[in-house]
Amino acid sequence: MTRLTRPDLDALPDYVPGRNVADLARELGIAEAIKLASNEVPFGPLPGVPDAVAAAVANVHRYPDMGVVQLRDKLSDRYGVPASRLVTGCGSVALSEHLVKAACLPGDEIVYAWRSFEAYPIIAAGAGAVSTRVPNTPAHGHDLPALAAAITDRTRVVIVCNPNNPTGTAVARAQLDRFVDEVPSDVLIVLDEAYREFVTDDSVPDGIEVYGDRPNVVVLRTLSKAWGLAGLRIGFLVAQPEVAAAVRKVVTPFSTNLIAQAAALAALDQEPEVRRRAALVVAERDRVTEALRKLSVDVPDSQANFVWLPIADRTAGFAAACESRGVIVRAFHPEGIRVTIGTPEENDAFLSAAEAALS
Ligand code: PMP
Repeated sequence: MTRLTRPDLDALPDYVPGRNVADLARELGIAEAIKLASNEVPFGPLPGVPDAVAAAVANVHRYPDMGVVQLRDKLSDRYGVPASRLVTGCGSVALSEHLVKAACLPGDEIVYAWRSFEAYPIIAAGAGAVSTRVPNTPAHGHDLPALAAAITDRTRVVIVCNPNNPTGTAVARAQLDRFVDEVPSDVLIVLDEAYREFVTDDSVPDGIEVYGDRPNVVVLRTLSKAWGLAGLRIGFLVAQPEVAAAVRKVVTPFSTNLIAQAAALAALDQEPEVRRRAALVVAERDRVTEALRKLSVDVPDSQANFVWLPIADRTAGFAAACESRGVIVRAFHPEGIRVTIGTPEENDAFLSAAEAALS
């Protein structure tokens, strides 16, 4: 057949979403599996969000506000940055795509750590950019000096995922200060802070507060995790006005949809509840980490809402053993397993599955 699409995409891995409850029902006959595979927060939508969504439904025959004015103003108040520096999008993953489209021409390079968020290679390849992957340290964290050293004349973007998905590790301010100073001023430094709300280590900087004024820094945030809007797809970035304006030029028109805008406005009124939920997740994260260490798994300290089990070639067997006990985790062959922190009961179910899987 005549080739109709780009041959270079054949080599690209598909984005593998976490397996879901329906997969286990179909394949294993397990009716109510526990999903700990996609880093959502388990407590349902925030109060006020269902009502805001229901009210917005009456207007879905109209396009949303393309300028996302009300929401950008609210984010501007909340995060202390002018609305001109904010861009919203259909999830922060779509915003990273738009950012790369705004920054890279085919053949340009994007430098990032590996393992890190599995969308990065797909986004780079989609733009025809070349990925430079820099291996994590033996402690599963970003190797910032090596990331800086990997930058060449062709590099347009370097990504720091802080905390890192899937390992949960975070880089501290002293190291990041040095890195940000070292990166050439014509390279965009993208700080992907999808899990910022779960950070409890004071040495880990808030990218918006600490680096937001640097001309070449862009901070990505999402409302999918702590703010409970994963299913509605909404995130935002903070950049200098010129960078933000360039991204806005390539954003898919109207891609911050009407219901997502309404839900985000309602969610942002719930900050105390977000903090309460994040604290529950953090307490459970620390409990799960300790329990796994007792099972002799060398879990690195996590600053996110998931933990990393670096069990290398045992990943496939471990994931299958958990699934047979009704718990869905995320396997990254051949490095390890990522487990999202759920409710205390869900975490207990995971821990007993893990104990059985490891014995
Ligand atoms: N960045 C990282 C590091 C993530 O883990 C995720 C979600 N898996 C995202 C970005 C994307 O989030 P969103 O739902 O906003 O697209």
